Amino acid sequence: MLKIGLIGVGHLGKIHLKCIRLAREVYELVGIYDTDQELAGRVAEEFGVKSFANLEELIDAAEVVDVVTPTSTHFAVVKAALEGGCHVFVEKPLTETLDEAEQLIELSKQTGKLVQVGHVERFNPALLALGDVKVQPYFIEAHRLAMFNPRGTDVSVILDLMIHDLDIVLKLANDEVAEVRASGVAVLSNTPDIVNARLEFRNGAVANLTASRVSLKNMRKVRLFQRDAYISLDLLEKESQVVRLFDADATDLPDRGQQFPLETPRGPRIIHVDQPASGPVNAIQMELESLAYSIRDEQPAAVSIEDGYRALALAQRIAEAVADNQSRLPDPLA
Ligand code: NAD
Repeated sequence: MLKIGLIGVGHLGKIHLKCIRLAREVYELVGIYDTDQELAGRVAEEFGVKSFANLEELIDAAEVVDVVTPTSTHFAVVKAALEGGCHVFVEKPLTETLDEAEQLIELSKQTGKLVQVGHVERFNPALLALGDVKVQPYFIEAHRLAMFNPRGTDVSVILDLMIHDLDIVLKLANDEVAEVRASGVAVLSNTPDIVNARLEFRNGAVANLTASRVSLKNMRKVRLFQRDAYISLDLLEKESQVVRLFDADATDLPDRGQQFPLETPRGPRIIHVDQPASGPVNAIQMELESLAYSIRDEQPAAVSIEDGYRALALAQRIAEAVADNQSRLPDPLA
């Protein structure tokens, strides 16, 4: 059983508080800390937990801290926690800048403490349901559309929303990004609210991502096209669909799903359609628990600090590509 402290009890922090309680087999909650002491007091009373008067006391009392504060504060809070001897779970994005992320990677190595980053979509049932389906995409299409909400607009839609898909795409494509093209528009806030990015990987695979926070509907879809297969992930509905082509005489067809004969230019084939399900999952509880198991088993975190760095580095390349594109657009006031 690990002693855990929660830092930041705003919108998402309160959800984490409930999930830490559900993860009672691995965590004992020692208390919470929030710079808004009035809010912390109210939350402490509501949940019957201790509210710490300062960060240092909470770090002293805990073995693991869960950081759910605004992104601009992640660096200082995670640094203090690592220096204080705690393992860390930190919400995404890891930090605001790459320099900060590099310093935390170094500190994590020096202290031997784990840092897991909250790229929670890794624990989405739609993705988990893929199980051992072979994923080797040549083309990825990702759409993450959200209705406007002023929360999160302190950063661009790339760091706010697209970063979820960047982490997934980097994981699934399993290659380095060779080229980035992007464009974006600041519609309602001071930073881009809608961004489209085209990533080309070294192996030639392409990912086309769109993220918007000024949409009239919500959508989170990732579609993967590969030789002999099409995989569709609906991360909002937590459903996945796998369509695969098999040889007409294949003996390795899955038991589940439906199959149809199909005449193709490459001869007769079988098309197999499956909707694998992983069962109900509390993704936040699962990601928090996974850190406890990594600490116990002395294994790397499921979403490591290096994963958080890679997603952030790609987000910055996209932000630079958007800025470059914007600098070439005609001035509407000219
Ligand atoms: P929020 O503004 O609702 O809450 C943040 C809380 O942190 C506030 O109560 C604030 O008083 C407190 N705080 C600020 N600075 C602090 C500090 N130095 N020490 C302690 N407490 C401090 O924000 P939120 O929506 O809960 O977002 C928090 C984090 O979670 C952000 O990094 C955001 O990017 C991330 N987030 C992730 C997801 C996801 O899908 N994984 C979704 C939403 C937000």
